[in-house]
Amino acid sequence: QKRNPNEAEFHQAVKEVFDSLVPVLVKKPEYIKQAILERIVEPERVISFRVPWVDDEGNVQVNRGFRVQYSSAIGPYKGGLRFHPSVNASIIKFLGFEQIFKNSLTGQPIGGGKGGSDFDPKGKSDGEIMRFCQSFMTELSKYIGPDTDVPAGDIGVGSKEIGYLFGQYKKMRGAYEAGVLTGKGLGYGGSLARKEATGYGTVYFVDEMLKDQGLSFKGSTVVVSGSGNVSIYAIEKATQLGAKVVACSDSNGYIYDPNGINLDTVKRLKEVEKQRISEYVSEHPEAIYTENCSGIWTVPCDIALPCATQNEIDQASAQILVSNGVKAIGEGANMPSTLEAVETFLENNVLFGPAKAANAGGVSVSALEMAQNSARLSWTFEEVDAKLQEIMKNIYQNSKQAAAEYGAPGNFVVGANIAGFVKVADAMIEQGVI
Ligand code: NDP
Repeated sequence: QKRNPNEAEFHQAVKEVFDSLVPVLVKKPEYIKQAILERIVEPERVISFRVPWVDDEGNVQVNRGFRVQYSSAIGPYKGGLRFHPSVNASIIKFLGFEQIFKNSLTGQPIGGGKGGSDFDPKGKSDGEIMRFCQSFMTELSKYIGPDTDVPAGDIGVGSKEIGYLFGQYKKMRGAYEAGVLTGKGLGYGGSLARKEATGYGTVYFVDEMLKDQGLSFKGSTVVVSGSGNVSIYAIEKATQLGAKVVACSDSNGYIYDPNGINLDTVKRLKEVEKQRISEYVSEHPEAIYTENCSGIWTVPCDIALPCATQNEIDQASAQILVSNGVKAIGEGANMPSTLEAVETFLENNVLFGPAKAANAGGVSVSALEMAQNSARLSWTFEEVDAKLQEIMKNIYQNSKQAAAEYGAPGNFVVGANIAGFVKVADAMIEQGVI
């Protein structure tokens, strides 16, 4: 904390990982001798830069851009870009740190990184978003490349922004390097099923947890927070598996539809019209809109999928979920549960799929996009989806096995952290003190 003051989210993410690693350090003192923890917590490189751009009124605006290149122990840095006013060094470092272990868990050769800006895309015109993206990439292009660092989307960065970023990268380099970004449009190197991958993957992971206990999505009631990329496709897959999703949200409030959320309406409102979720009730009068998004956790459910943002479930919300009988949690967002909320779930034997494992489907398909770009071919939706399912099953099994091996059976927080860590730590030792 002395070394990284005022970085609460970063401290939280590090504490969660380091607390889980105690049994590994006891078993493998080599990690202590080699100062693996001291090294892994320090990013290999942190880049912070000015992003000036001109708005539609002709005013000059200035935002701050970041890229944290955290670990390249097992592959090029890989992780999304977030455009949201809350972005600062702490947020990007927590996301980049978690990404190291998540990417390792996928079984793909990708290191950890993350980036973004405090730019707020909400209410901006297409022209403003494009000019911002061009300015951002003019600087970022100096530090990334298909074999160096491969960014993707995250909050506020979807296929439109990736398109503008890719166009500017191409212009800066004078070369068509398809593998420099993932989440690209399908017409210029994107992968089928990338858009769906994080949400689908979260549901696949939870499905594995449920099946192991003789449970399933079929007939269950599900609550999904958010209504962005991850949420929409988590709702889609949970519904396909026979669940009824009764609530979703945005940063203003949440909707409850006792008949089950009509996903076509949500997709149109959010993906096409960029409306607020409150608009849903004007088309579905049986649904109720409530201001204040954190109230969504008071809706009784069997399965809760937090898919919006960090720390959206605090201890009080976790307790309400538990007293309403929740059986499983799958973290689609990054670090959506506070440390106290995680404790509450584990103490009450709620099946808990932590973000690193449960939302790793997105980056897994990003790695598949890189593979398709390198091979200059594209796989069908079904091929990518089948690979995604296989990867999520493996992540589940590896996390489960590591948890059992290190004395915490059924604790996927410990299992995912250890399984992700060991591979990176061993690679660091083999590569010497660098
Ligand atoms: P989007 O921008 O598509 O959607 C974000 C959703 O969360 C929106 O509904 C947004 O509401 C809501 N939200 C954002 N900030 C807040 C807040 N402070 N309080 C309440 N709600 C909020 O982002 P994604 O769906 O891509 O990302 C969601 C989460 O999933 C993030 O934690 C991200 O890091 C994680 N993730 C994403 C991956 C991906 O492939 N996209 C991969 C792995 C993890 P509003 O529109 O009102 O802002």
